Amino acid sequence: MRGRLEITKRMLRENQAWAQERVARDPDFFLRNAGSQSPDVLWIGCADSRVPAEYTINAQPGELFVHRNIANLVTESDLNVMSVLQYAVVELKVKHIVVCGHHGCGGVRASMAAERKDLPYVNRKLEPLRALYRLHAHEINLLEDDIKRVNRLVELNVFEQVRNLTRNDVVQQAWQATQTLLLHGWIYDICNGKLSELVTVGAKRG
Ligand SMILES: [Zn+2]
Repeated sequence: MRGRLEITKRMLRENQAWAQERVARDPDFFLRNAGSQSPDVLWIGCADSRVPAEYTINAQPGELFVHRNIANLVTESDLNVMSVLQYAVVELKVKHIVVCGHHGCGGVRASMAAERKDLPYVNRKLEPLRALYRLHAHEINLLEDDIKRVNRLVELNVFEQVRNLTRNDVVQQAWQATQTLLLHGWIYDICNGKLSELVTVGAKRG
């Protein structure tokens, strides 16, 4: 327990060091950023601690607008992801939306197993993913090992979430207004830290 409590103290110490080091390299960095933000990219990723969005692409503060949830789902009934999406597209006018899934996703794995009675919120959240699994169970279950089955559903889930975005009214209205908005489906490999692109949808305008 003591070790776990120490973690937050270490985090605050590390933050002091990080902020000082950032200013040493670029004295006006935080002052420049404090005025406003204009990120070009909305990142919708998994909440998994092993997939820290900014780290994986060497992004600096101000570069990414980020939403993360279990299994990177884009569900219209989820006010959290919908409000982030709306603000990013309508107000910030991001040019790209990245949906990033990752191999070995615990949320995806959970959606392929029996529901756990002690996790009712998680169960509700994963309902669309369970439906996707049922739809593709025949193909997925032909794969010989568990890791491949999970990773196949991870990929299908990224395609599905990008598809959800293409049908979303916020995205549709941006496209009708000829706003540049590209949708990308990526996969992060937790075994080697590398991202790969599965799909890109949309067109560059102007
Ligand atoms: Zn995950």
